[in-house]
Amino acid sequence: MRRKLVAGNWKMHGGIAQNRELLAAIVAGTKTVQDADFAVCVPYPYLFQAQSLLRDTSIQWGAQNVSQHEKGAYTGEVSTAMLLDFGCRYAIIGHSERRALYGENDDTVALKFAAALQAGLTPILCLGETLDQREANVTEQVVARQLDAVIESVGIAALSRAVLAYEPVWAIGTGRTATPGQAQEVHAFLRGRIAAHDAGVAAPVKILYGGSVKADNAAELFAMPDIDGGLVGGASLVADEFIAICRAAGAGSR
Ligand code: PEP
Repeated sequence: MRRKLVAGNWKMHGGIAQNRELLAAIVAGTKTVQDADFAVCVPYPYLFQAQSLLRDTSIQWGAQNVSQHEKGAYTGEVSTAMLLDFGCRYAIIGHSERRALYGENDDTVALKFAAALQAGLTPILCLGETLDQREANVTEQVVARQLDAVIESVGIAALSRAVLAYEPVWAIGTGRTATPGQAQEVHAFLRGRIAAHDAGVAAPVKILYGGSVKADNAAELFAMPDIDGGLVGGASLVADEFIAICRAAGAGSR
């Protein structure tokens, strides 16, 4: 049985006072929830606050991006070593917003993935198709290309130290969720593609679903055999919603 993981992606939201309130509520609301892991991926300036407030709790934290470079003249960038200075466990890599808005392509994503892994961070690698691609019936080709770029760069064994997140672009922030069946189909495809290289890597690798996960759809998504939790954007900013999603993933307070 793969242990479920729910990770919040705060995107460019937050503020010192509201973060304090949100994190305190999440810590309290998930205290009795067992058999699942929880994390928040916060904007860089709040990593210190996340570390201070979460270090003695079971909630882990991470960033939403990281540089592929170790150090140097890269104005505005943040390195893996810096994330480790703030106790990060996770770094989201290749989120569709970074691919679409900041020009990250499969090669950049593979470099960032490799850098995160090399530093000992757990990359959460995002894969997903646009609406046009889904309607053109090329979903599998798109996610396969995105996944293969990383496998070719770091090798199949590296995936055992990573988490994947299937995030159909048309479902992100739109309120339009993939049906559990649609998501399961892609998750099973991804696991099968990994298994074609190495079944021992494929079986335990966590594949999260992301795209308008909410309190009222989390349980049915998480009931799918190849969905191992969620990468949650908007709903991770609302304590009650996020806690309910965490409860749907775990046992104890369900
Ligand atoms: C995301 O940003 O990764 C995401 C899945 O967003 P939302 O849950 O808001 O669709």
